[in-house]
Amino acid sequence: KKQVYDYLLSQTPTPRTAPVHPPVQRENATLLMLCRNEDLAGVLYSVQQVEDRFNRNYHYPWIFFNDVPFHEQFKTRVTEALGKGADVTFALIPPEMWNQPDWIDEKKAKASRQKMVADDVPYGGSVSYRNMCRFNSGFFYRHELLQDYRYYWRVEPEVDYLCDINYDPFTVMREKNKTYGFTLSLYEHKSTVPTLWDAVKEFSKLYPQHVHPDNAMKFLSWTGGHTYSLCHFWTNFEIADLDFWRGEAYSAFFEFLDHKGGFYYERWGDAPVHSIGAGLLAPKDSIHFFYDIGYRHTNAHHCPSGNVWAAGRCACDPKTSFDHSSYSCTDRLLGIQGNG
Ligand code: GDP
Ligand code: MN
Repeated sequence: KKQVYDYLLSQTPTPRTAPVHPPVQRENATLLMLCRNEDLAGVLYSVQQVEDRFNRNYHYPWIFFNDVPFHEQFKTRVTEALGKGADVTFALIPPEMWNQPDWIDEKKAKASRQKMVADDVPYGGSVSYRNMCRFNSGFFYRHELLQDYRYYWRVEPEVDYLCDINYDPFTVMREKNKTYGFTLSLYEHKSTVPTLWDAVKEFSKLYPQHVHPDNAMKFLSWTGGHTYSLCHFWTNFEIADLDFWRGEAYSAFFEFLDHKGGFYYERWGDAPVHSIGAGLLAPKDSIHFFYDIGYRHTNAHHCPSGNVWAAGRCACDPKTSFDHSSYSCTDRLLGIQGNG
């Protein structure tokens, strides 16, 4: 057996280098992915698609974040998949941006985790999942590696990019003054955010100056602000403006929520937190539905139709696009933006 493998390896061409293209106008932006060493196969799966469907024409840098150091093997595989010479950084998250803070009452947090396990709440018993949600809600954009960037595109392991992306979404963000771009929206599990909306209402009363007068409240609440619609954008796909997260309004918003402790006493996700943040603190028209970006995460996919489908050589059936599902919130947003 060994001989056969040695033979095969000797036949293998030398590693490819990142393809050289004529320089394109690039935006001040980066691709980023938070992942674990164990996610390697899923990371490669997603990276390959983003590269083939989009980034082979643009060569935006990649930044991979982890709360523990990436293994050499992980770094080698990802670098080789991108092509030697690609702009890729493997970053470590400082513990203070990741771990459960000391001022959280661990007894109370633990009791809540146990109750959520008993109630079958997704990830209800996981501390690391909570760390991840809090990091994505309030810290990634403050990481030193992102300081000089204006926009980012979040990618997750094991997702599908179903259509060619024949233009630069970052340019759309900049030219059209967009704050937040999404492909899928849906309803949150109420059990993960029982008091989040109370905190949001309290924040709005205390800091009315941060609430945007032309916000997307009608997407977030159908009861004039009394209750949360549970609508949120799925943050596993996200193209957004880092300056918005770093700005005064969202910074105050995150600090306020963080001190409620709900990331640990409940299981507040970065998806509802980002969505409420963008929906309340930014103009509603600065939220952009990337209709032409075909995308799948777990069991839901967004698939465009018609000419857009054809131009994108989309590998999906528009008929089963999540947009048509009664669990999708997207038509709600389009409705309040006057495109419903
Ligand atoms: P789901 O999409 O809500 O089911 O959650 P995922 O398991 O996909 O996690 C969301 C993102 O966070 C993915 O990019 C994961 O790779 C990443 N992630 C989740 N937990 C951890 C963790 O403990 N450490 C690291 N480094 N990444 C994590
Ligand atoms: Mn996921």
